[in-house]
Amino acid sequence: MPILLKAADIIAKYSPELIKESNFLASDGLTPYLEVVLVGNNPASESYVAHKEKFCHKIGAKFKLTRLKEDVGEKEFIDCIKGMNENPEVTGCFVQLPVPNQLRHLNITQLINPTKDVDGFHLKTVTDIYQGNLTGILPCTPKGIITLLRENSINPAGKDIVIIGRSYIVGKPLALILEAMNGTVTICHSKTKDLAKHTKNADIIISAAGMPNLITKQHLRSQPDQVLIDVGMNKVNGKLVGDISFEDVHDHVKAITPVPGGVGPMTVYSLMQNLLTTTKNIIKQRKV
Ligand code: NAP
Repeated sequence: MPILLKAADIIAKYSPELIKESNFLASDGLTPYLEVVLVGNNPASESYVAHKEKFCHKIGAKFKLTRLKEDVGEKEFIDCIKGMNENPEVTGCFVQLPVPNQLRHLNITQLINPTKDVDGFHLKTVTDIYQGNLTGILPCTPKGIITLLRENSINPAGKDIVIIGRSYIVGKPLALILEAMNGTVTICHSKTKDLAKHTKNADIIISAAGMPNLITKQHLRSQPDQVLIDVGMNKVNGKLVGDISFEDVHDHVKAITPVPGGVGPMTVYSLMQNLLTTTKNIIKQRKV
């Protein structure tokens, strides 16, 4: 049986540390406080935000959800972001994506105050990663994947790693991070000619395409020595599934993350870690 890289064990192991840290920051003068702007009522976004709120409460952080109507205008939307950027009590904030069409032309991730950028999408954060500096805020999903690998004693150094997907929230930053950790990274995407040629050669395959059953046994080599990380979150007949055909591949791999229960919860866990980091940074700035 392959090892399942499960998030629950890691989160259970480290949650007491997050709670302790959150209490310490509160006693140092600033309670971690996350504000989220949600436009409209996309059911998937509602569910992601609910998980984030629950985890905030678990670690003793404050949480505020600001809801805007689906047809909100640009000015009201931007004013709302300015409000949370400038609120001295708020220590981390973001806009839950996607937003409706009328707001899509805005460079939303750049509107967020970089000192409160818990999502890790601001250009300042990206520049640090680009320069190989992994000590600050990292985008949540890539950060969660790195934690999953580390907690399962899988070191990316020297490994051939294939990432499927080149979005700015998952594939691109993850490639930079793994390359900075001395992995040899290949990014595949929808125009990649022969996906299986690349995946067969990989020690670690990370799929973030949003395509159910994209990866099957046909994409693996014959020795069961590959590690598979499934980022995909797809609804099929009302059920949440990843990009990897779990039943087809699980007897042919060294380790695999389940969906649900793999990368998803690690993403929320990483957001909490980032919130504690931005809170700490704000306290430090105020003491100078
Ligand atoms: P995205 O912006 O839609 O990007 C998808 C990427 O996959 C694109 O680069 C696309 O290539 C590539 N792709 C699509 N079909 C492909 C195919 N058949 N073969 C090879 N590459 C293909 O999506 P995203 O925001 O990165 O999210 C990807 C998936 O991860 C979604 O299912 C999303 O729900 C999930 N997700 C999960 C978490 C989590 O916490 N678990 C977090 C974020 C996202 P092109 O660039 O050529 O179009």
